[in-house]
Amino acid sequence: MEQPHALLVASPGLGHLIPILELGNGLSSVLNFRVTVLAVTSGSSSLAETEAIRAVVARGTCEVTELPSVDIDYFFEPDATVFTKIVEKMRATKPVVQDAIKLMTQKPTVMIVDFLGTGMMSIADDVGMAKYVYVASHAWFLAVLVYLPVLDKVVEGEYIDIKEPMKIPGCRPVGADDLMETMLDRSNRHYRECVRYGEEVPMSDGVLVNTWEELQGNTLAALMEDGELSRVMKVPVYAIGPIVRPNGATKKPNSIFEWLDKQRERSVLYVCLGSGGTLSLEQTIELACGLELSGQRFMWVLRRPTSYLRESSNDDDLVSVGLPEGFLDRTRGMGLVVTQWAPQVEILSHGSIGGFLSHCGWSSVLETLQENIVPIVAWPLYAEQWMNAAFLTEEIGVAIRTSELPSKRVISREEVASLVRKFMGEEDEEGRKVRAKAEEVRVSTERAWTQGGSSQSSLLEWAKRCCLLSFTNNT
Ligand code: UDP
Repeated sequence: MEQPHALLVASPGLGHLIPILELGNGLSSVLNFRVTVLAVTSGSSSLAETEAIRAVVARGTCEVTELPSVDIDYFFEPDATVFTKIVEKMRATKPVVQDAIKLMTQKPTVMIVDFLGTGMMSIADDVGMAKYVYVASHAWFLAVLVYLPVLDKVVEGEYIDIKEPMKIPGCRPVGADDLMETMLDRSNRHYRECVRYGEEVPMSDGVLVNTWEELQGNTLAALMEDGELSRVMKVPVYAIGPIVRPNGATKKPNSIFEWLDKQRERSVLYVCLGSGGTLSLEQTIELACGLELSGQRFMWVLRRPTSYLRESSNDDDLVSVGLPEGFLDRTRGMGLVVTQWAPQVEILSHGSIGGFLSHCGWSSVLETLQENIVPIVAWPLYAEQWMNAAFLTEEIGVAIRTSELPSKRVISREEVASLVRKFMGEEDEEGRKVRAKAEEVRVSTERAWTQGGSSQSSLLEWAKRCCLLSFTNNT
């Protein structure tokens, strides 16, 4: 039989690109598929995206083509959400993907798009490929996404006005506060896009999701076993996670690791709000003062505050635009501020890291769970990060979050200091419980990928079905 050829299409943003690249790597190394990745990059953080692509290409498992960036940035309002930008970029890039496929000498047998690329699935129909969706997030998010068209029909008014969490059959109910920001204004056309995604995901041949049976068995059962949710889902769901970037795939800058090497075991709080997470200037200052006030050691990957985003293209002067006067001098030795890009997986696995203040992007969460660096201080900012924070705090019990959502008000320096002290100081009963829970989860991440483990079996089952479908499409 001819070697199966998987075509993966990644949407912009590292939280989408890295999981697709790592999925490609897995399909090649575990299943011996030929893998081509078409990467729609975002332009704004393209240096980091290019580096992520370079690192995967160096492993020799996938061919990756960075598609020419379609320049539509001028089209966005200054306050356009990350989601909006990605949706529009994917829409504008569809013809480019079509052209790239025409140029391929070996026709792909299966197309995998992430959920923001479901609009590309008609391309697969045109050329007779099987088509799958990759949800680089968790099963509860997938459940809410595919159930949204039902909520859209039965709920009147705005979700935010509903006081009780909304029921998702067989799953944890979801509070309106935890929904993606784009789902909160039903008159907005991007809300309609979310509903469309919810309708289109079940039109695929199946869904691969970056979670595992031991972490979300009940939700996966609700999606797959006969019931209201599985009737909405319609197609098979394969839990194949955790798929994360391996430790050691990125260069380790000396300045960061020499500093970490000097710190005590588990003494440093790592602060990073993802690839696109930015704070207001006021919140940046409060966070800085809170870290200083906490007296705990920290490593902070600082991004340009929102009000400075358009001002200068030189990120090295970032420290002089967002931080309180004298902050760097006063915290010298106690903290390290890193601008631009930090090798997160390698930092998380360093023995001196003892906690993570995170925006709770799902890749960051998985990287943490795999390295057992808890507790997580949850600071969700956009997309499904509020759901992730709720899941980690209330269901898994490996995180704490502020009393209110950080994006909805400014979290004061006192509150930051108290959150950080609570989990980085002397370990109390609660801290011990959290670490024990995290260790349990870490062990389950390993088990899922051992021979015969749940995720490995699920991936093999997917491969069988996908090859069968491709065979049927071609006869
Ligand atoms: N990341 C990194 N260094 C940084 C910021 C982010 O290596 O300075 C990586 C991080 O390890 C993760 C990805 O970028 O793999 C971010 O994905 P996530 O889903 O956590 O959040 P997003 O950036 O998509 O909001």
